[in-house]
Amino acid sequence: MKIGFIGLGNMGAPMAANLAGAGHEVVGFDMADVSVEGVSMAASAAECASGAEVVITMLPNGDILRSVAADIIPAMTRGAALVDCSTVDVDSARAVAADAEAAGLLAVDAPVSGGVGGASAGTLTFMAGGSAPAFAKAAPLFDIMGQKAVHCGEAGAGQAAKICNNMILGVTMIATCEAFALADKLGLDRQKMFDVVSTSSGYSWSMNAYCPAPGVGPQSPADNGYKPGFAADLMLKDLRLSQQAAESADADTPMGQLAQTLYAQFVENEDGKGRDFSAMLPRFEKRGRAE
Ligand code: NAD
Repeated sequence: MKIGFIGLGNMGAPMAANLAGAGHEVVGFDMADVSVEGVSMAASAAECASGAEVVITMLPNGDILRSVAADIIPAMTRGAALVDCSTVDVDSARAVAADAEAAGLLAVDAPVSGGVGGASAGTLTFMAGGSAPAFAKAAPLFDIMGQKAVHCGEAGAGQAAKICNNMILGVTMIATCEAFALADKLGLDRQKMFDVVSTSSGYSWSMNAYCPAPGVGPQSPADNGYKPGFAADLMLKDLRLSQQAAESADADTPMGQLAQTLYAQFVENEDGKGRDFSAMLPRFEKRGRAE
């Protein structure tokens, strides 16, 4: 299949390399001067998209996606599919899908989880929104770049699933970290805390699979000096998207709102930038009640 791939950054480059490695003809474009093994580079986004059966975008945010989509939609062949794998706001995902469909294209929003490691290993999870034919067209490519793809519903449903999941993750990580910090101050051994909570009703992915306390539970970024993993900055981005969506859908999300405030404080005013999102634990440890 001839595939256009726009946005060859930390995630996009290994994803494009995996598609090329599987035998597809991949033409790439990025604003930065990048090269990816097996991928030939086009001089513009429109050139990259022209003649491709599927165009994949992996870009930083919804505004950039909208501007790239405006460039490439007129250049794409009718019946081709535009598959956006970036994490963007639901409104941008729906607007781009509507423009693509109006031009006779198929459209899928398919954000991923699994991070840079999953992108390199081809083990991402895709959560997709779009029509059944659009999903069917993209599915064989999801199989190469990932281990699982869930068709969540119509346009925007993939982004909705992603930000709802990550809102839960941000909230439970904060709850897990503040509980560890409280346990410390109560003199409770961290291993005992893990042994009890990981098999009791306080268990969660944050506690059981990604424990924020070093030396406790399975290997996690906490055991590696809180080097990401999943950076606090990216969690903040996703929490902001969740609150933007909540605002436009008139949903009451007080815990998500507070998680956004805490991650913003951590990343913008404290030492959270560039650290894993589980570094909330040392943050809480240092603090007292009045701060
Ligand atoms: P990145 O910044 O490494 O890559 C983005 C790329 O897009 C860059 O190479 C940049 O030059 C390029 N770009 C920007 N504007 C462009 C334009 N107008 N035309 C062409 N190229 C342009 O970011 P990333 O880590 O690869 O993340 C990409 C997306 O994936 C984001 O939406 C992010 O939220 C999401 N995501 C990232 C991770 C992660 O762990 N890094 C995990 C899941 C989802």
